[in-house]
Amino acid sequence: MPKTIILVDMDAFFASVEQQCNPSLRGRPIGVIGSDKRTVITAASYEAKALGIKTGMNKFEAKRLCPEIILVIGNNRKYTHTCSELAKIYARYTPDVEVYSIDEAFLDITDTQHLFGGAMEIGAQLKKEIKKTFGINASVGISHNKLLAKLASDISKPDGLRYISMEDAPSVLEDMPTDKLWGIGRGIGNRLKLMGITTCGQLGRMSETFLRSHFGIIGERLKEMGQGIGSFSVLKETAIAKSIGHSMTLPKDIINMRDIEAHILKLSEMVARRGRLYNLLGEVVSVVIRYKSFKTFTRQKKINTHTYDTHIIYDTAIGIIKVIRLAEPVRLLGVTLSGLREDSGQMSIFNECNKKDALIKSMDSINDKYGEFTVSWASYLDIRRHLGVISPAWRPSGLRRTDV
Ligand SMILES: [Mg+2]
Repeated sequence: MPKTIILVDMDAFFASVEQQCNPSLRGRPIGVIGSDKRTVITAASYEAKALGIKTGMNKFEAKRLCPEIILVIGNNRKYTHTCSELAKIYARYTPDVEVYSIDEAFLDITDTQHLFGGAMEIGAQLKKEIKKTFGINASVGISHNKLLAKLASDISKPDGLRYISMEDAPSVLEDMPTDKLWGIGRGIGNRLKLMGITTCGQLGRMSETFLRSHFGIIGERLKEMGQGIGSFSVLKETAIAKSIGHSMTLPKDIINMRDIEAHILKLSEMVARRGRLYNLLGEVVSVVIRYKSFKTFTRQKKINTHTYDTHIIYDTAIGIIKVIRLAEPVRLLGVTLSGLREDSGQMSIFNECNKKDALIKSMDSINDKYGEFTVSWASYLDIRRHLGVISPAWRPSGLRRTDV
């Protein structure tokens, strides 16, 4: 039986959330930026978009183009909160929900659509509820796989609702530019164009051998994509998260090791605390580094134990960074703990390790109550003192990814 998949995608998500939180921003062109030292627009309101403001534009360029634009410093807590609240709405329609990104989710409604009067009815209901609860417009795409559901949503934006049936798919795809497809970026789109392939219809009719000779193993997949063939498995959140990670765009680019240590300590603590909160121990520590030039890379190291100890995570992360010779100032740092397993919770008071765990958990409860880093380890005071920009009242204003 064919599947029925819905993609719900918020329009101008960060900007819409900011406008909801601050009524004086409603109806006005706003651009959301990372922090006051950051210059790239990460989201623009409808009003700003209408004036030519685009995501990724420099704020000075935006000011020149649209002097009345209001720049708002983004607040990730608002977005992650809204994202988890949205998931509660989705769960009313199906248990099979994949929160794909902060503002997009796939819902498999194959087995539940009949309870709500059909797929289009669910799409319309979702839009209405999201608008009523959060004041945000969502674009909803429906089809029998994720590729086409995403396409349906994208081409119906803004505030759209579109269903692409199996019968309609070939005619929708025939003249559709290839780079409208999810997964075909401008890079591949341009290469295809140079070969004279501009539409999905053409792409779907190309020979596999030809595409493979130009694109390697993805050649075959490209042909399928042109034909609208895509995955329909909606990945439900597993009982155990795969990783716990935090990353942040720094208030300014840094290269000094002491500054880097301070930020890594902060990130390690955030990751470790989250592990402790969910009783998850990890055995792999990864560090992500983005240079000023946006070159980004990840390095990881397996530790010989499962842990949620801040210091072990911190020491491992710093060990990784010391091996890398930083080539440029750093723009973003991230720490992730993976290879997770649940803490069995067995405790022996005679075991040194467990005593330390108990102590850490008591520290967490004090810090939960009185703010981060109210109590900490003396050995890290010096690094923390050096931190300057991060006070106990610090809140992430940069990018932050949270897997649990
Ligand atoms: Mg969106």
